[in-house]
Amino acid sequence: MTTMTTDLAEYRSGVRAWLADADIPTVPLDLDERFDVLRDWQRALFEAGGLGISWSKEAGGQGLSHLHQLAFAEELAYARAPMPIGLIGLDVVGPSIDEFGQQWQREELLPKLLSGEHIWCQGFSEPEAGSDLASLRTRAVLDGDEFVISGQKVWTSWAHKAQWCALLVRTDPAAHKHAGISYLLVDMSTPGITPKPLEQMTGDREFCEVFFDEVRVPRRNLVGELNGGWAVATHTLGIERAAYTLRRRVDYEVAFEDAVAALRDHGLPAPETGLGRRVRIAIGKAHVALKVLSAQTQKTVARLAAGQVPTPEDSVDKLLLNEVEQIVFGEIAELLGPYRAVEESRPLGLASDRWAHDHLYSRATSIYGGTSQIQRNIISERLLGLPRG
Ligand SMILES: Cc1cc2nc3c(=O)[nH]c(=O)nc-3n(C[C@H](O)[C@H](O)[C@H](O)COP(=O)(O)OP(=O)(O)OC[C@H]3O[C@@H](n4cnc5c(N)ncnc54)[C@H](O)[C@@H]3O)c2cc1C
Repeated sequence: MTTMTTDLAEYRSGVRAWLADADIPTVPLDLDERFDVLRDWQRALFEAGGLGISWSKEAGGQGLSHLHQLAFAEELAYARAPMPIGLIGLDVVGPSIDEFGQQWQREELLPKLLSGEHIWCQGFSEPEAGSDLASLRTRAVLDGDEFVISGQKVWTSWAHKAQWCALLVRTDPAAHKHAGISYLLVDMSTPGITPKPLEQMTGDREFCEVFFDEVRVPRRNLVGELNGGWAVATHTLGIERAAYTLRRRVDYEVAFEDAVAALRDHGLPAPETGLGRRVRIAIGKAHVALKVLSAQTQKTVARLAAGQVPTPEDSVDKLLLNEVEQIVFGEIAELLGPYRAVEESRPLGLASDRWAHDHLYSRATSIYGGTSQIQRNIISERLLGLPRG
């Protein structure tokens, strides 16, 4: 892959040429098989210089721009190549470690995060602290050179597969709730950590409850200042909302193109029939939604390039992402009708197992990374200056 060039067009054609020869894997539906296949794929992408594109070289990245990163994500999607498995590390946690982490953390941890040797999870949410994340109660008490952690996290994606966790803990219970939080990097093999997988409505067991029972973590695993974890967490959430939106937007476009191609191959029902009208309305709605998201992500790229993430504008990205994903996959699921429950059926030429799975997963988008209601609160209060509700 032409990773050394900074010329965007040249870079893009290098990526395209590499993908044309690459051994692009087929993604199995079974979660464990999918995990293994996508981890191998991550290593292949890393070895080709395709990960950490906008990260510092010190962290094992390429030191290129966010535009290069977007070009890479687009080419990956256009080639129908899957995303690597370690997206929480790559798109959520890693950029914050690169920005706020100590030198040893960047040098020792980030290259393994990029290669997929270490899978990361994000231990933020708790049973009583989701939308109101700053209410988190998992405690960490300093004992000499170690923190001793006790408490519980929930909805922690990939915790049962992860080697490392970016964990938010309360280190000063007397301080104002945002001021008493620290951001720790925790080796998941440390004694006292118990992840318990939870089943999602897709049937996958991708996320977990995680219990911490007097888990001892070296003080040097702190990211940022002691009790200064909220600033790092805000960065992580902003990146999650903005960078993830860029990546996912292309995936939806490609998925939509695939659906339209399948409908065309099957033969569209005549426009004057009820089904014919329904198909055309679905295509129109999804097409318009994707165009709106595409326009918004042009602004996102500019913000990322100017170092203006996180900002409240990230919430516009996340809200649109939520809505567009649910429109695209919801419209396709409507076309499947009751056949969506029959795995091997192909109504209108659409593969019901693939689209039913994606439709079910799309329901999660308006929850993870901050719910749609929370994004609307941020937009109304912080972008539009409306009074707090
Ligand atoms: C697939 C998936 C993966 C996830 N992965 C992770 C992960 O890896 N790590 C992690 O830490 N977390 C993860 N989460 C958790 C996610 O971040 C939380 O579910 C989310 O922040 C919402 O918190 P909650 O579930 O506690 O809901 P609550 O905060 O209890 O909210 C319940 C409802 O009330 C609404 N609500 C709450 N407060 C307000 C308000 N002030 N104004 C208006 N409405 C409000 C919410 O919008 C929601 O509809 C994941 C979630 C999902 C679905």
